[in-house]
Amino acid sequence: MIDYSSVLNQRIQAVAPSGIRKFFDILEDMPDAISLGIGEPDFVTPWHIRNAGIRSLEKGRTKYTPNAGLSELRRQIALYLSRHFQLTYDPNGQIIVTVGGSEGLDLALRCCIEPGDEVIIPTPSFVCYGPLTAMSLGKPVYVETKVEDEFRLTPEALKAAITPRTKALVLPYPCNPTGGIMTRKDLEAIAEVLEGTNILVISDEIYAELTYGEDQHVSIAQIPGMYERTILVNGFSKAYSMTGWRMGYICGPRELIGQIVKLHQYGIMSAPTMSQYAAIEAMQYGDEDIAAMREEYNGRRRFLLDGLRSIGLECFEPKGAFYMFPSIQSTGMDSDTFCMKFLEAEHVAVIPGSAFGPGGEGFVRACYAASMGNLATALERMEHFIKHR
Ligand code: PMP
Repeated sequence: MIDYSSVLNQRIQAVAPSGIRKFFDILEDMPDAISLGIGEPDFVTPWHIRNAGIRSLEKGRTKYTPNAGLSELRRQIALYLSRHFQLTYDPNGQIIVTVGGSEGLDLALRCCIEPGDEVIIPTPSFVCYGPLTAMSLGKPVYVETKVEDEFRLTPEALKAAITPRTKALVLPYPCNPTGGIMTRKDLEAIAEVLEGTNILVISDEIYAELTYGEDQHVSIAQIPGMYERTILVNGFSKAYSMTGWRMGYICGPRELIGQIVKLHQYGIMSAPTMSQYAAIEAMQYGDEDIAAMREEYNGRRRFLLDGLRSIGLECFEPKGAFYMFPSIQSTGMDSDTFCMKFLEAEHVAVIPGSAFGPGGEGFVRACYAASMGNLATALERMEHFIKHR
């Protein structure tokens, strides 16, 4: 008999599986359930983008690409970042095409963490930053953001979390699960704290295209003095509804990207070829698709926000991504109990805020990248649940 616990790496065994997963396991056996759980657009990838993937297969483009990705895709990414965010990255040496934003985050964290290094992670936020840090022998330092600050990272909270061991700051905006964003002014205040330090910023901008108010997304790399220290992570999953294609990219200073490419080269080789051809089409001709989907999400956002408030739940108005993060404190339940009972009683999945780190307890996350019909039914069922539980 083999003793697996002594064979397996202790750090991996110590990491808890994602708190989101168990709800999906239950959902599998509940075919009539409505899921507002998964953070995934409900649209099929626009046809012209799918077609570009299909055409690449028809032409027999089934081989590896260069490690950093097709040069035409890197060129298109550079053009896109310049067009949308006034950022300049050289396609040769400053951009790597990755397997989703997920690989980009893993690369960005692994490239800089030495054992014991601290990584500051504002929470509630996406579930992977802490475990990826810990698996690289780093120490996640969670900084709670507050609903009264619209879930922004404040310069005071950042300053208080910095120690001589701080290696990097993860900036997860627009934020999953809160929908919070950081304006240019907010980012300038963060930049002021970072100036003069040796701290890297890993900026997860996967929801950059999904902001709804007057404040459009600003990248921290646009703030003077920040470009040199920022690793920008982005991807195609959310903006173009391309989750299954597994397409993302990271950009940064040449000195960093030149090293990071080795992690990608030895671990992945190159991102899927067919997906890269589809991504070229998305970058070249996808701006209208983004605008149309954003408009649709915005309608759903208003509908769900009004609906949740009208059934008596306090809810922060999210300005980005596609999640609502209502408080369920008035029900007297903790978020895990609320979600489990709601799923069992009403067959609707939402995710406990506690799954997203410190500060998430007392809230649940509902994804509004779902049809209006499903959102309306989910709201009716939630009202019923709150009244009759
Ligand atoms: N960052 C955030 C904040 C996310 O919500 C997600 C997906 N849920 C990702 C990164 C990773 O997305 P992907 O790997 O599909 O690009």
